[in-house]
Amino acid sequence: MAGESRPPAWAWSVKVNHVRVLVLNCGSSSVKWRLFDGEAALAGGLVERVTDHTTALRQILGEVTDVQAVGHRMVHGGLRFSAPALIDDEVVAAVTELIPLAPLHNPPNLAGVKVARELMPGIPQVAVFDTAFHRTIPPVNATYAIDAATAAEHGIVRYGFHGTSHAYVSRKTAALLGKDPAHVNVITLHLGNGASACAVKGGRSFATSMGLSPLEGLVMGTRSGDIDPAIVFHLHRVAGMPLDAIETMLNRQSGLRGLCGDNDMREVLKRREFGDASAALAFDVYTARIKQYVGAYYALLGRVDAITFTAGVGENAHEVRVAALSGLDRLGVSVERDGKGVISPPGAAVAVCVVPTDEEQEIATQTAALLA
Ligand code: ADP
Repeated sequence: MAGESRPPAWAWSVKVNHVRVLVLNCGSSSVKWRLFDGEAALAGGLVERVTDHTTALRQILGEVTDVQAVGHRMVHGGLRFSAPALIDDEVVAAVTELIPLAPLHNPPNLAGVKVARELMPGIPQVAVFDTAFHRTIPPVNATYAIDAATAAEHGIVRYGFHGTSHAYVSRKTAALLGKDPAHVNVITLHLGNGASACAVKGGRSFATSMGLSPLEGLVMGTRSGDIDPAIVFHLHRVAGMPLDAIETMLNRQSGLRGLCGDNDMREVLKRREFGDASAALAFDVYTARIKQYVGAYYALLGRVDAITFTAGVGENAHEVRVAALSGLDRLGVSVERDGKGVISPPGAAVAVCVVPTDEEQEIATQTAALLA
């Protein structure tokens, strides 16, 4: 797992022009797609209320021409995949074996792969894993302090997610600073519906907040992030909640929604402005958790060149960025303005940046790079 010898992310992100890549993100009830030619996005869309992936894919194939390769977004690649993989029966079997670790995500991802292979025989298909970027995390930051034999037997380890976004955004941050990614340490904060933090050391993932599953770490739209694991036992034994109900609560009725009823940060901000106490508490808990991770990753990295915000909340919510980084002046961290790019004062020790993520673009780039 401590893949020091593995190539850094940018090794498989070399820009390759003029390969037409169809990027597919197959969920259980929707298929998101985009067609790229090199860096240029030619078309895209979202097929919703999908009941079978064959119908959805036929519809998409009716709208695209001359596809030379397909890039599939795959959520869980376990410990095996530290880079994109050209899909064959063996890769499909390996991802199928990982279903117990990602029961909600891997099955629809695999359904998309199966149908795409049937409908586009002979077109190379590439799996780009959310977990792959994190395979460079050293054991010290990936190991849970539980019984080691049990953990080994059941694959209980920090896998991390949102890797495609953290890879893309950390590389863009280095470019924004005019530096080689190999010489830059960045804390990336992907704040969307799901949210995760990543300590990127010299272009490689070194620590990340999501773990065995995407439930750990930051407070999210509907997920709790970090909690005392004893809460689960307490709810089961004392409150009499079945495990499935607890899992549903922690994934869908927690986070911002659990605290104030709204999972959309825009609503939370509006209500907070009008003096709503539960929205204000939700905002405070959300931003304090981000600050905790920034502090923790600052300590782990030792030297931080940049802190980068991305995804729906990170790219848009100035109030969140300001609150999350407030009081960190002594660490050389401060926010000067709203907007995109570098938002810290000129000459600050740590550049604070806003960099829009583009996971589909990154999947297309990695797909083309693998085939080249
Ligand atoms: P996903 O994780 O599903 O890809 P996004 O990255 O698009 O989601 O983030 C979606 C979230 O971003 C929304 O739920 C909303 O809370 C937040 N968001 C989007 N636009 C804004 C905005 N202008 N201000 C604050 N929050 C926003």
